[in-house]
Amino acid sequence: MLLPTEDLVLLHSPTFNGNEWNYVKECIDTGWVSSAGKYVDLFEKKLEEYTGVKRAIATCNGTAALHICLIMAGVNRNDEVLIPALSFVASANAVKYCDAIPHFIDSEEATLGLDLEKLDVYLNDITEIINEECFNKQTRRRIKVVMPMHTFGHPVRMDELLKVAKKYHLVVVEDAAESIGSYYKGTHTGGLGLLSALSFNGNKTITTGGGGAILTNDESLADLAKHITTTAKLPHKWEYNHDRVGYNYRMPNINAALGCAQLEQLPEFLEKKRVLANRYAEAFSNVDGVRFISEPINCKSNYWLNAILLDERYVSELEKILSMTNGSKIMTRPAWTLLNRLTMYSSCPAMDLSIASKIGSGLINIPSSITLAKNI
Ligand SMILES: *Cc1c(COP(=O)(O)O)cnc(C)c1O
Repeated sequence: MLLPTEDLVLLHSPTFNGNEWNYVKECIDTGWVSSAGKYVDLFEKKLEEYTGVKRAIATCNGTAALHICLIMAGVNRNDEVLIPALSFVASANAVKYCDAIPHFIDSEEATLGLDLEKLDVYLNDITEIINEECFNKQTRRRIKVVMPMHTFGHPVRMDELLKVAKKYHLVVVEDAAESIGSYYKGTHTGGLGLLSALSFNGNKTITTGGGGAILTNDESLADLAKHITTTAKLPHKWEYNHDRVGYNYRMPNINAALGCAQLEQLPEFLEKKRVLANRYAEAFSNVDGVRFISEPINCKSNYWLNAILLDERYVSELEKILSMTNGSKIMTRPAWTLLNRLTMYSSCPAMDLSIASKIGSGLINIPSSITLAKNI
């Protein structure tokens, strides 16, 4: 049985079974809770080792990490950034923080990520390349970045994405907020774009309370990311000199301490998530009209949030399923409202979003905490 003894089965609750208390207590005992202390450096080093990406820069949350990635990718005011309409609002917000414009792209049913063939046809139609830069012929704005998002931990088809990015001279920034522990053909998600962002929010696979990280294989971009996320202060014994407008986006030491303890348990968390996902896959395998979302071929998903997709014949039952499950204290959630339907983004450019719309109307996230695996 999947049901734990607790009253309410949450969508995703954190697990603290390791050294969390020791490391956090050490921060408090020594007074190093904030901008200095050993855990931030340690957490960054451990992230580099784990992901195989050369550099990791810890930040106060995933949205801040995305914001800095976009700045460093060269996104300027009035540029367009291609993002999936089927994503969490942070993806669009980070674009807006740069005074840039989100341009919404359709997704595909298999991976829940960007549909790259459809994107290619679309860009071929609406863009022109001038001096190796991509311009939207309809809005006359530059399209600078394409930002794939690995939905619920399922990797986007990165080979095809990189091909499209190259063809249209777009910089790739990966929104890997949901995909720590997910691999595309053996490469950790976030390791194929110029830059990428992870999130360690309380509901993600591992948590630092609130937190995020920028990943990049480019050493000079990494140094710059560290600089601008820490108020752009020039190193000096006592002087306060700052050489540009910086951000106070650093991760506090106490959060990094939590992160170090969580990272130690990540392999075990991922194993349990896989046990749970396999159990769900089996349980739904002969349910008519329901597809359990499994990892794409040649990929390893972290199965952050398990999801099922209702066949079009049963989409009208979605509200009923949500109210029945939540009424029985089993937390389930629908997909995010498509970003182009949110008031503040409703006038942004968008391609045909029929598949994102179809996924959005049939998708249900189901309980995914690793504690559920112990009851299987
Ligand atoms: C969680 C998430 C973020 C942002 O993370 P925060 O740490 O909550 O700021 C960004 N994008 C996606 C797709 C996410 O799921």
